[in-house]
Amino acid sequence: MILLNPGPVNVSDRVRNALLGPDICHRESECAELIGNVRRKLLEAFVPGAESEYTAILLTGSGTAAVEASIMSSLPPGKRLIHVNNGVYGERISSIIATQRLGIVEIKYKWDAVPDPEAILRALKQQPSAHGVVMVHHETTLGLLNPVNEVADLVDSRGGVFIVDAVSGLGGETLDIAGRHMYMVAGTAGKCIQGFPGVSFVLVRKGFMENVLKYPKRTWYLNLANYYTAQENGTVPFTPAVQVYAAFNEALSELLEEGVANRIQRYARMAALIRERMAALGVRAVLPPEFQSNSLTAFHLPEGLAYDVLHDRLKERGFVIYAGQGHLESRIFRVANMGALQESDIEGFLGAFEEVLTRANRAT
Ligand SMILES: *Cc1c(COP(=O)(O)O)cnc(C)c1O
Repeated sequence: MILLNPGPVNVSDRVRNALLGPDICHRESECAELIGNVRRKLLEAFVPGAESEYTAILLTGSGTAAVEASIMSSLPPGKRLIHVNNGVYGERISSIIATQRLGIVEIKYKWDAVPDPEAILRALKQQPSAHGVVMVHHETTLGLLNPVNEVADLVDSRGGVFIVDAVSGLGGETLDIAGRHMYMVAGTAGKCIQGFPGVSFVLVRKGFMENVLKYPKRTWYLNLANYYTAQENGTVPFTPAVQVYAAFNEALSELLEEGVANRIQRYARMAALIRERMAALGVRAVLPPEFQSNSLTAFHLPEGLAYDVLHDRLKERGFVIYAGQGHLESRIFRVANMGALQESDIEGFLGAFEEVLTRANRAT
């Protein structure tokens, strides 16, 4: 089955086979070595040349665990976060923040709108208790890229902390984490890094990590300071998903061998193939091209073709697409191109799509 949903993704045989390594105890040196390798490769991939300025902290859990851990661990007493919400994942950040009332201003937009960095700067200036800003990098809701580089510069110029949910961005989009002084960047194995779901991570600026160690613990299981301290001592606070980590380690080797820039180019090429062919078939993209990411496209459903029918007929042919969310659920469909996919897989999907569309048109 070819997965065209935004994670979990198809993985290579090499990554899959890494699950079949020897059983190892998480309190033994083999596990410490594995975790050390994963942490080192994450820095090599995402903060190249600035490895000594960042640390990578691994968590067992899906991407949301890394986002929640970042938010819960990043605030001194009495300080709050400005949060930007222009999609389902921005909404999730707002929900996480609401559980402990850690927010000060929510800057909210419609799902097809790009946040205005100036509005974020104004909020920072107006709110003395704002410690920083949290926002999504690639809003997977519609496949929209947020202006995180610009916002990072503005937050940095005010001495604020910038926290980024790059769960669906890392590996698929360029992100200048070190150059733009991003403080915390949350990611996951199971999207553009092409590993399995079950392990996520946070890249943290080392100077900031020293502060995080002193902040109040607002969560017991997801407190980043605990994970950091343990991992720096070659241990783990809780039982990690050892086999999934082993596969992640292999996926990171693959990423480094392919090269992050080449991975991004490959995704961009596949997204272009999908968009060109859909346009030729008269299927309209929801977002204008300048807002679109490299790894996901939202399309309006063709007239008279219900999502379930489209989904089921494509699945019969070996392809899984993804529904829209919220008020767009019955009006759009999404096609992601994350994972160990070849151009031939995309060609196969587009052929199947055309066939399903032609039959539907004939039937009406
Ligand atoms: C996938 C995703 C997440 C995390 O989702 P999980 O199901 O917890 O892995 C968070 N943010 C964004 C932008 C995502 O695309």
